[in-house]
Amino acid sequence: MKTVGLIGGMSWESTALYYQLLNQGIRERLGGLHSARILLASVDFYEIESMQQQGRWQEAGVLLAALGLQLERAGADCILLCSNTMHKVSPQIEAVLSIPFLHLADATARAVKERKYTRVGLLGTSFTMEEDFYRGRLTAQGLDVLVPEQNRRREVSRIIFDELCCGQVVEESRITYLKTIDDLAEQGAQAVILGCTEIGMLVKSPQSSLPLVDTTAVHVEAAIEMMLSP
Ligand code: GLU
Repeated sequence: MKTVGLIGGMSWESTALYYQLLNQGIRERLGGLHSARILLASVDFYEIESMQQQGRWQEAGVLLAALGLQLERAGADCILLCSNTMHKVSPQIEAVLSIPFLHLADATARAVKERKYTRVGLLGTSFTMEEDFYRGRLTAQGLDVLVPEQNRRREVSRIIFDELCCGQVVEESRITYLKTIDDLAEQGAQAVILGCTEIGMLVKSPQSSLPLVDTTAVHVEAAIEMMLSP
């Protein structure tokens, strides 16, 4: 088995899910007492979130790239950045690595296409829903990507930072997300990408009017495939 290197802590609530899903996935495939070989570099999310708010993306990229390199030197065979939003700086990370970087938007586009969807809604932070670094990567792979209208986007993003990243799962917020998914269905979406690694804590498939593509689960699947490849 190869070793996966996680750049995590953004937030640690979702990095804990990565840890759990990676270990569960390896146990399902290899059985018995097998578990995942994982190296983790976990940031103080307060610092990263401040950099996002202040537009200090270059600085954040330098910090995360240094962690990626530490993981590589510690023996990681591939790197996962456990936040959709921070893929805004993924070119800086990829530039310093000589091992594969499993881009979350690529893994997501692949999962969406395998399920034969062409028109998908995207939920995530404002950065992910509004900027091109993530949406553009999906559309470049032939997908039509819809996002909620502005007020809904603001609320979807607020819930991520104020609640989910702090470990709070609030029923009223779940209703907001489910209504937002209904709106995306009306706009013609065939499925919705949970494009933030914490959203799966709040919304699960059976509750939703559309099928969900959870980026955390998709990223973990891509990692396991790589870890078990010859
Ligand atoms: N985990 C989140 C994401 O997947 C949001 C936190 C962050 O801004 O990194 O986008």
